[in-house]
Amino acid sequence: MPVLTEDSPLTKLLKKNEAEQLARTKGLFSVADLFEFVPRRYVRPGQLTDLSALHVGEDVLVVAEVKTASTRPMRNRRGKMLTVVIGDDLGNELDVTFFSAYGHEGKLMPGVRGLFVGQIGAYGRRLQLTHPEYELFTDDDQGDAAVEWYRTHRVPVYSTTGKLNSLKLRKLVQQALDSVDRVREPVPEQVRVSRGLVDRAVALELVHRPAVDDKPSRGLDRLKYDEAFVLQTILAQRRKAAESELATPRHPRPGGLLAAFDERLPFELTEGQREIGAVLTHELALDRPMHRLLQGEVGSGKTVVALRAMLAAIDAGGQAALLAPTEVLAAQHHRSITAMLGDLAQGGMLGGAEHGTTVTLLTGSQNAATRRRSLLDAASGTAGIVVGTHALIQKHVQFADLALVVVDEQHRFGVEQRDALREKGIRPPHVLVMTATPIPRTVAMTVFGDMETSTLRELPRGRSPITTHVVDADRPGWVDRTWQRVAEEVARGHQAYVVCPRIGEVDDESGGLAGAAGTRDSSDEDAGWEAHWDDGDGGGDSDLGDGGDGATSGPAKELTGVYAMLSTLRSTPALEGLRIGVLHGRLDPEVKDATMQSFSAGEIDVLVATTVIEVGVDVPNASVMVVVDADRFGISQLHQLRGRVGRGAVPGLCLLMTQGAGERAAERLDQVAATTDGFELARVDLQLRREGDVLGARQSGRANSVRHLRLGRAEDEQIIADAREDAFALVAGDPELRAHPALAAAVAMRLDEEQAAWLERG
Ligand code: ADP
Ligand code: MG
Repeated sequence: MPVLTEDSPLTKLLKKNEAEQLARTKGLFSVADLFEFVPRRYVRPGQLTDLSALHVGEDVLVVAEVKTASTRPMRNRRGKMLTVVIGDDLGNELDVTFFSAYGHEGKLMPGVRGLFVGQIGAYGRRLQLTHPEYELFTDDDQGDAAVEWYRTHRVPVYSTTGKLNSLKLRKLVQQALDSVDRVREPVPEQVRVSRGLVDRAVALELVHRPAVDDKPSRGLDRLKYDEAFVLQTILAQRRKAAESELATPRHPRPGGLLAAFDERLPFELTEGQREIGAVLTHELALDRPMHRLLQGEVGSGKTVVALRAMLAAIDAGGQAALLAPTEVLAAQHHRSITAMLGDLAQGGMLGGAEHGTTVTLLTGSQNAATRRRSLLDAASGTAGIVVGTHALIQKHVQFADLALVVVDEQHRFGVEQRDALREKGIRPPHVLVMTATPIPRTVAMTVFGDMETSTLRELPRGRSPITTHVVDADRPGWVDRTWQRVAEEVARGHQAYVVCPRIGEVDDESGGLAGAAGTRDSSDEDAGWEAHWDDGDGGGDSDLGDGGDGATSGPAKELTGVYAMLSTLRSTPALEGLRIGVLHGRLDPEVKDATMQSFSAGEIDVLVATTVIEVGVDVPNASVMVVVDADRFGISQLHQLRGRVGRGAVPGLCLLMTQGAGERAAERLDQVAATTDGFELARVDLQLRREGDVLGARQSGRANSVRHLRLGRAEDEQIIADAREDAFALVAGDPELRAHPALAAAVAMRLDEEQAAWLERG
């Protein structure tokens, strides 16, 4: 047997095409990858099974002879199905079914003996094994040894791929286990002992080759711990590195802009806003860069908190930059900040306040002249606050003295973007990241684990509650009633959103009104990077194929597009005479901005939109939102969306319209309707989604995927917390991991993987 290391490629153990298949379908390249490929479940057949006393759900190990084997074409699919009848010595029989005869047909011939392992299922009234693992005996000795192995082990069942069935994969993993002399051990002994963890070598045996009495879960817990430990080590190192950077302290200035702003504030700050404000003021005055995440529900007043910090930075002689994920939001931030500051934003202008400053907008779609002026304002220091999209990050954008960077909605910004911006200061600026997506503790610890976190828990007083109802579009009259409700709200002087899962074709409607005229014809590709940022948020301004976290089972239904909806609404009698607008990411930025402004100004009654309005859009007069094909959206996304209504004194109403949703999707919608607690929903969401989706493909450069950890599970939260404590303690004493080469190697490998994943995504 060849001696391997964990770095050996799987081509050492497999034929080239098989190794390629594993790499392609399962992402397994090396022996180490294979070790981390944990079984989906275990079958525990134990004793030889008597074929006369079987029941559904039972794990069985039978030794039997093939009596008959027959193939027939399948009704709904291509290919042939193979049905084998096996029997024991007493004349009892059992059906064995393969939905693909390929690879089995030639082996399972009448008269052949072997053992079959699997779980008993039923087809009609007959019991059967479907795709069991089996080994055929060519001579009796071999049979005895095989039977003995199965009797004394739990049998791991792997998720299969192509010709590599579970049995082959099991043998492959075991061969790898036997060929590697020394298994890596990234966790220091002292930590293993104090946490009661088994050695990694033992863990791998427990996971891949457990004896009947072993607990594979102990092994898996160890692999989970490893994953968490390596991640936390990376985060601890990042934190350490950030702490050793020197920032310019920005001391508060009594009687400055901030004080003037507070005086003019038309409301009282909430307690949370005041407390976090004090923390930010304190950290801005330190000589190491602040690196803080501010989370809070939509409308909890994060922007006000951030603005106060920006003013403090300006008071101290610096500048602040605010990065928004889309042009629509950048423009909106620019407007609302300018409005909030009033005469304080007219620095140097006639009629401006004495200590005023200037707020400048900088986006990719500005015309050359405007853009040049904005760039000049930033570089000369005239602009105290520069609001923009990622265009702010580009090389030629310079600041006179950048003190504070505020990033709105972190989930669309990668570390690279943030770092590029940090480099614009003379010294690294302070960084504040705002997110309205409630972040459960597991995610906070892993994805944002290198930042300090502040949370705004209360909503400002006077905020109105949102009521949510699920509208079953199949029930007669419900759809009409929905549009009636929209009309009633508009009649009361309010406004409405109608959110659709896709844009669709402009041809779907006839005649143009707001928005439609500006539709660009270009495909997403040539819309370029800028538009890419505005649109491609995965969850989907474009077609929402995957937004529905697992809801996509069942026949694919045509999703409602914005333009189709527009024409439906125009021909709905209840909505006659209403001013209906359209907003989505494929529109020209100016058109988007103009539409948003008309809606803000109350010139549009009903805005038919995609999820572009998901983040940050703030029109307090909007009181009702209808989400069409709501079953196609994720829980968190729906929660985020409905935060667009109920922002003023008017109570919000959210109607989730669905048609023929599956049971799970219906349950999800009920959960969204049942609570407005974003943290609770985020937790439910995590349990339902795959982690990768939750963390989002845009979390580049971060610990963006987990293999073993389940972030929605309470048990794993403890594992992460333990690993975090251990890793931070270790890094505090040994930041370079000099005394822990195996850990250093694991960290390097993980970072490589992330880098590779990042490059692949482009
Ligand atoms: P977020 O950014 O968290 O969504 P914003 O800061 O945009 O929230 O605040 C939402 C709205 O509530 C804004 O119109 C803002 O002026 C207002 N607001 C913020 N803080 C308070 C407060 N303490 N009392 C009353 N209104 C507030
Ligand atoms: Mg906001």
